[in-house]
This record gives sequence, structure tokens and C-alpha cells, in this order.
Amino acid sequence: MRIVLKFLLRPQPSKRGHSRQIRNAPKDEAEPAVTPHTVLTGFTIPQEYPDIRMPKPPSVVRSEQNQIADLRSRLKSLTGASTTLLPPYSKRFQRVRLGIGDDCAILQPPRGHEVVITTDFSLETVHFQRDWHTPESVGYRCLTRGLSDLAAMGGRPLAAFLSLALPDELVRSRLGHASWRDRFLTALLALAGKYGVPLAGGDTAQSPRNPLSSAIRTQKTGWALADIVLVGSAPRNRALLRSGARVGDRIYVTGHLGGAAAELALLAACPRRFRRCVVPTPGHPNPHPHLFPEPRLAVGAWLLRNRRATAAIDISDGLSTDLNHICRGSGLAATVDAASIPIHPLAIKSHAQNSLKMALDGGEDYELLFTASPRMKIPDSIADVPVFCVGTLRRYDSRTPRVVLLVEKNGRKSARPMPPQGWQHFK
Ligand SMILES: [Mg+2]
Repeated sequence: MRIVLKFLLRPQPSKRGHSRQIRNAPKDEAEPAVTPHTVLTGFTIPQEYPDIRMPKPPSVVRSEQNQIADLRSRLKSLTGASTTLLPPYSKRFQRVRLGIGDDCAILQPPRGHEVVITTDFSLETVHFQRDWHTPESVGYRCLTRGLSDLAAMGGRPLAAFLSLALPDELVRSRLGHASWRDRFLTALLALAGKYGVPLAGGDTAQSPRNPLSSAIRTQKTGWALADIVLVGSAPRNRALLRSGARVGDRIYVTGHLGGAAAELALLAACPRRFRRCVVPTPGHPNPHPHLFPEPRLAVGAWLLRNRRATAAIDISDGLSTDLNHICRGSGLAATVDAASIPIHPLAIKSHAQNSLKMALDGGEDYELLFTASPRMKIPDSIADVPVFCVGTLRRYDSRTPRVVLLVEKNGRKSARPMPPQGWQHFK
């Protein structure tokens, strides 16, 4: 099966205006010169010349063409080859038959696989704050959110598609400093390179001017928005769903929970402390569960390949909310043992009184929550990520709470309701 995905790296005005502007544009402006730039992750990617060495963009088309050329150059460095028809750099890159530069990308999923697709917004003031999060953190988290959804299905990424709407000040670079957009892309592409995910298309636009910006004397003329689409593949009828759990199944989580919420609280209290945090180097510990969360792709792929899980979800909204999704999807109820929940050391250290609540309701940990038959052997760690059994699924009875938490008090365990109190998309 061949998948064709439409992506727009073209200007929005009418086609007549578009062609006229392209014809009028000087030839050498379509493919700007690039210069090597070593990024934090160690591999080399090209970067545009700073604005001071480039003629001012005469039109939207000029700017769009530059951005396409910039992305192409970065991808060329990432894959070591042309980006329009990627050579056999790796089997995964071969799945992109046609990348950035045409009306659509063409993907070729492996034989016997079906396509899984997810999309996630990263909205300024909703998912990140420009005053708190570095552009590297926003770019890294943007891609992690999509990859984590693929991990939850046991899917393998085929390609990513990125749409960006940015205010003018985030696209411009100052002398000696990369623009916000470049820093965002550098981190996003570093993560993409780590997991072998080609960026095969997207869209760019200038976000509308905020009419209040001058009134409140802010440098921000509009808000930043990034939308990431991840296309992956999974063997036909084998993707891990929320609806496959059965009565008696054990409930497992990967990694430690509450770290993202704990780091976010620290970030909100003192953003300046986190301005110099860098993109984690592959193979080294990642001390930033909120700023640079890791997608658990290898764990999801292992679970699918070894047929160990009956259901799975990624913990993006919080354990209490995401376990509720599994219970509702499978028509079951759950009992969780508070003593078994792996609380992140950062949550224990910085918010000892609140650490259990952070682990249950904090969200954005991007760990996996999965269920497995009690007869199935689940190792203590999968792909170097620790795995913990935290509870059991049971039959649902409308007279009792859907999910209960066993808490020990005075040497005795008692059950209390564990309502979904994680992230709510509409409040
Ligand atoms: Mg998800």
C-alpha cells in the first residue's frame, strides 16, 4: 500500500499571485547558502546565514522558499543525502519515497503493516510558556508528544510532519544568535535523528498579530503554535489498543511518575534556573522529565513484538486519567496499590508532601501504562526502562468507583476512590 499525504509548504495567496512572485524572485534566492553549525547533540546540521548577511525577504514566497531550503539542508545533513528521494540510509528512511518539496509526501509502509497516525498541538500559554520554556524544550517536547502516542500503540515511526505558526520576532535571528525557530528546529531534529524519524513535510505561517500586544507593552506580537503529525506503522491487527484489557490483568507502568509535574513546578517558580538546560545527549541520563521527556518507543515495540500487553496508553494526562481511559475503553474497573507506584526522585525531593499526587495526577511523564495477563512474564526492565506492577483490573460495577487506590494507614490497607484528576483538555 502506498500512502500519499498532502502537505503544504506553499504560500496561502492565490495561485496567480504565487507564480508571479516566484517568477520575479531572483534565482539565487530560492536556494540560500548554508553554513555548518554544530548543535548540542554533536551532529552537524546546516544553519541559515544570520539575517544581517541576507537580503531582507521581499515577500512571503521568499521566506517560504528559504524555510523549505533550510529544512532540506538540515534533512540532508541528517540523512547524508538528498531529501526528495531518500537513499537506503536506513530501512526506515526508505519508507519515505518522497519528502519535502512537492505537494504531498509519499510513504511506503512495510509489507503486512497498517498505518497509525497521531497529531498533537503545542500551543503557547496552553502547553508551554515562552518565558519559561527554552525553544529547545518546546521543539523536543513537541516531537516527543507525537512519538509517545506511537509508542503507546507499539508503532514504529515512518515520518513526521510539522506545521508552525510563529510571530515575526521568533523567526528573526540577531547577530550571533540563532532565532527561536532555529533553536526549536535544532532540538526537534536532534530527537528525530535519535529515533530515525524523517521530517517529511509541513506548513509554515506567520501567526496573527495580538491586538493587545502594544497596549500591554510586551515584546510578543503573537503566539507560537506547533502542530506535529506522526505517521507510523504496526503489523496488521496487532497495534496495542486501550480496549484490549481483560479481568484479572495486571497493570504496569514504565519509568517513574511525577517528575514532569515536579520539574514544571520548579520551572514556574524560577524559570531563570532552567535557561541553560541542554538537549540530553543520547546514551546519557536525562535529568529533565518535563523539559526533555523521552518517548518510550523501544518499550512499545518490545511489547508488541513479544505479544505481552493486552492494552496500552501513554501517560500524557496523568496516571489517574489515563488508567481511566483504559478502564473505560475495556469496560473494566481497576485497583491500584499506592505503595507500588514508582514516584520520581525529583518529586520526592522537591515536593515530598505532594509527591504521590504528582505521580497520580501530574501528567506529561510520557511513560507507558499497559496491562498484561497474570500468566505473562513481564521483566523488571524493558529496553533499559524499569517496569513496575501497580495494580489489577477487575469487573466494573456501577455501584463502586471505577478506580480505587489502596492506601496503608495504621498498618491496614483501605480503599479510596481515585478519580481522573489529571490534565483536562476543556475545563
Ligand atoms: Mg496518548
